[in-house]
Amino acid sequence: MSKQDYYEVLGVSKGATATEIKKAYRKLALKYHPDRNPDNKEAEEKFKEAAEAYEVLSDAQKKARYDQFGHAGMGAGGGFHGGGMSMDDIFSQFGDIFEGSGFGGFDSFFGGGQRQSRRRSMGRPGANVRIKLKMTLEEIHQGIEKKVKLKKKLTCKDCNGSGAKNSASVKTCHQCNGQGRVRKVQSTFLGHMQTVQECHYCQGSGKLIVDNCSTCGGSGRVDGEETISIQIPPGVSEGMQLSMTSKGHAGEKGGPAGDLLIAIEEIEHDYIERDGLNVFYELNLNFADAVLGTSIEVPTLTGKAKINIPKGTQSGKIFRLKGKGMPSLESTYQGDQLIHVKVWTPQDLTKEEKKWLEKLKSSDNFKPKSEKKGKSFFQKMNEYFG
Ligand SMILES: [Zn+2]
Ligand SMILES: [Zn+2]
Repeated sequence: MSKQDYYEVLGVSKGATATEIKKAYRKLALKYHPDRNPDNKEAEEKFKEAAEAYEVLSDAQKKARYDQFGHAGMGAGGGFHGGGMSMDDIFSQFGDIFEGSGFGGFDSFFGGGQRQSRRRSMGRPGANVRIKLKMTLEEIHQGIEKKVKLKKKLTCKDCNGSGAKNSASVKTCHQCNGQGRVRKVQSTFLGHMQTVQECHYCQGSGKLIVDNCSTCGGSGRVDGEETISIQIPPGVSEGMQLSMTSKGHAGEKGGPAGDLLIAIEEIEHDYIERDGLNVFYELNLNFADAVLGTSIEVPTLTGKAKINIPKGTQSGKIFRLKGKGMPSLESTYQGDQLIHVKVWTPQDLTKEEKKWLEKLKSSDNFKPKSEKKGKSFFQKMNEYFG
């Protein structure tokens, strides 16, 4: 594949000055920028071609070699792996092309956002902070705001997290000339390959601190405490993990903060058991109440509720309080509270009570109606959810 002449690509003459070359490239880069030409392969090719041409013609040495040998001079050993520029390489070029050009930063020109992640920061990101949050079923039911005091790394106030004593103590990295990247040529069986690596000297920031902030010793962060208000939505459950972006440890030297990760733990309830969106309550019912019927109060996650026990209620009966279960995290649906009746058999009786029972025992009405096997609790549950 024969390559187009680099001067033609940029639309400049062989005698063009560095400024003219820069200007021409800037124009093309803006015209064919992927943000302006989404999903346009042709524009992307032109964008890459222009970047490659500029890469060579903006470098005095490469330009001289290209002028003398043409594309042949750019091959093996040429220090330039033709066509091998990644989009990242291209974007990293932009810093010096658009700075001070009246365009403002490239980010601001294109509205930032997408390119933001490419912006280099001096420091490593902070670690995540993990905490466990114990919640009662009542708290889970209604959702809560909890204030938690966290011991964590905070941004140093004296240097605003930069780690530098003052603005004069920040210098451009001499190793990479402030690029944050260094180009390395490696010999492989395919010939010389060029790779771009982060500058280890400045950790990719392009800047070096010559005088450290005395408060934090240059790390840009200090040990401290922060009280964080955590909003827990209703309906979370055991083992669920919530995260709060950037509420973890502060990053080093102004690097991004980690996240706060909150693991939910359910505190076991004395009376109510949870199963997903439904909750269960086992009601020990007075034998006489089961026979005669009554109205009775049962605990729910929102206080007490009254239920009617019809006369002749059998042990094992399940009553349902609609909407008294857990709210769903995903919808407006609310689970139910199921009340499982267990008729309580008295265990200690007086002589007189025993006498009454002996009398009642022989009555026809005390004989169970059916000798057939009754339905088990699980069968009934299956029918209920059937
Ligand atoms: Zn550097
Ligand atoms: Zn500091």
